Amino acid sequence: MSDESVAPDAPVALVTGGGTGIGAACCRRLAGEGFRVAIHYRSSEEKAKKLASELDGAFTVKADLTDPRTLDALIKELKEVAGQVDVLVNNAGYNENAPMLAMKLEQYDAVASVARGTWYLTKLILRRFMLRKGTGRIINISSVVGHTGNPGQVPYTMVKAGLDAFTKSVALELSGRDILINSIAPGFIDTEMTEDLPEEVKEAILAKIPMGRTGNADEIADVVAFLATRGNYINGSVLHVNGGMYGG
Ligand code: NAP
Repeated sequence: MSDESVAPDAPVALVTGGGTGIGAACCRRLAGEGFRVAIHYRSSEEKAKKLASELDGAFTVKADLTDPRTLDALIKELKEVAGQVDVLVNNAGYNENAPMLAMKLEQYDAVASVARGTWYLTKLILRRFMLRKGTGRIINISSVVGHTGNPGQVPYTMVKAGLDAFTKSVALELSGRDILINSIAPGFIDTEMTEDLPEEVKEAILAKIPMGRTGNADEIADVVAFLATRGNYINGSVLHVNGGMYGG
């Protein structure tokens, strides 16, 4: 944890997958907005700890979204260390690439169990923190491909479309409360998740983006920060941040 110059009563934001890519950009941006940031990681310990050392008041927490026991432990830790979670950014995600007919059950399960963990974590955060306080903001990072489909990513597209449906259903269940939940559906964003794609795949994607360029993680983090701090009449929505790709 870095020094404690962040206000003692600063609101707390938990960012899953906060050690890398879009999640790390969200952590930086939310810290800049005065949040005390809980940087969640599963395997990127070094990156998460380095980032925490750069952000006032930030701290790291570890959990595997596929293992509910680690999420139960995470909630206990958050209660002890921060006492509250005001903003939850469900950013962590996992993809397996394979054509429908070659995709194995284990690969499907690996993708789907991260989505199950997102559901379970959100339930715990609501129950332990947000419903007790009566306010909260939940921001889910889905994807344009949940709307367009994508060959070779059938489970991933199912999960991302499901995440947007999750956003809408939870918003309805939370009716009448100051707890707002929204999705951000990024288009093609330059991160480690996308850097290994073959050149011809990248070119084919670029051809579909009216702005003629890929996005960057800060452009997603800007919208996350907006929903976390303003956007007080946006609820159950999917915000498309994709340079004008289909779905935007
Ligand atoms: P990334 O750097 O690979 O981030 C994925 C994050 O998910 C990592 O920080 C990883 O944590 C975490 N994660 C994966 N499996 C996990 C598990 N079982 N338990 C806990 N955490 C787990 O890629 P990114 O591009 O920043 O992606 C962030 C989000 O944006 C994802 O949900 C992705 O689907 C979505 N998205 C990305 C793009 C894009 O073009 N980049 C487009 C649309 C949507 P560790 O590294 O600590 O294991």
